[in-house]
Amino acid sequence: MFNRRKFLHSSVLASTGWMMKDHLLITPKTLISNKPIVISTWDFGKAANAGAWEVLSKRGRALDAVEAGVKIPEADPTIHTIGYGGLPDRDGHVTLDACIMDEKSNCGSVMCLEHIVHPISVARMVMEKTPHIILVGEGALQFALANGFTRENLLTPESEKMWKDWLKTSNYQPVINIENKSSASINAVTMPGGPFNHDTIGMLALDSYGNMSGACTTSGLAYKMHGRVGDSPVIGAGLFVDNEVGSATSTGVGEEVIRIAGSHLVVEFMRQGSVPGEACKKAVERIVKRDPAKARTLQVGFLAMRNDGNYGAFCIQKGFTYAVRTGTEDKIYESESWF
Ligand code: ASP
Repeated sequence: MFNRRKFLHSSVLASTGWMMKDHLLITPKTLISNKPIVISTWDFGKAANAGAWEVLSKRGRALDAVEAGVKIPEADPTIHTIGYGGLPDRDGHVTLDACIMDEKSNCGSVMCLEHIVHPISVARMVMEKTPHIILVGEGALQFALANGFTRENLLTPESEKMWKDWLKTSNYQPVINIENKSSASINAVTMPGGPFNHDTIGMLALDSYGNMSGACTTSGLAYKMHGRVGDSPVIGAGLFVDNEVGSATSTGVGEEVIRIAGSHLVVEFMRQGSVPGEACKKAVERIVKRDPAKARTLQVGFLAMRNDGNYGAFCIQKGFTYAVRTGTEDKIYESESWF
């Protein structure tokens, strides 16, 4: 029999839902005090955050902010771990990895891309202009060139010299990598006992409308095997964004992060109720427990932000730093560490 009350109830719900949807389309979410905010890995994150802040402070979109932000270290030849001026692989090729993800789980990634200063923008174009998520190597380069990017030589004289010095011993020790806090990227290059091998920028932003995005870009481990790809361009490993919960990014020995799907794991720990720093610590614990002896010899750092702007970090070894920019602060913090 026709149930009039039930019918009225469901049609009221349906119309309310429709009205709410319409309403959301025209009215942004209410602004709250801890938005906007941008955080990113390492000391160089401060300059990158300034680029992102240009966008966020004008009520721009988190996606535009993270792209603009990480383009700063990508273009900086004095940073030997990202973009132009990045250290090459063992055969002398500068191969770049990057990915980007927005509040709707749209994502794009490039892996082992050569000759392009801004891999993050190519990753965004993969996300926005193709039905795919990942392009690699020669295919990624052809896509970039066909879409207006110019071919450049990314190997600076300084990076070339470091690579040639390294070639004298070819001492490849990708697992030994513990920063000297004061100037991680430079000291790691020259640190005794092994070649430099990391410092990626991972950036997470929450905009004025409550939407999050993230970006991650790197030249990867220095003197790696040609074709090696780490965690940084792998969605779920080097970066993950879920607007309902939060976002996370990582830096350090990528192989260890991929093994535990690190950034996704951090977000899932936040979904289960952990605050960001605690979620990062639990992911670090996963790595340490798998092989405690090996963990003593390597670095991994996670950085996370909840969708209310709360943030935190945790790493294996002392020395991982991260930069925070809000309407009231512009600071670099040192992460807590397992050891
Ligand atoms: N995670 C990067 C990689 O394994 C390295 C880094 O963070 O610097 O390629």
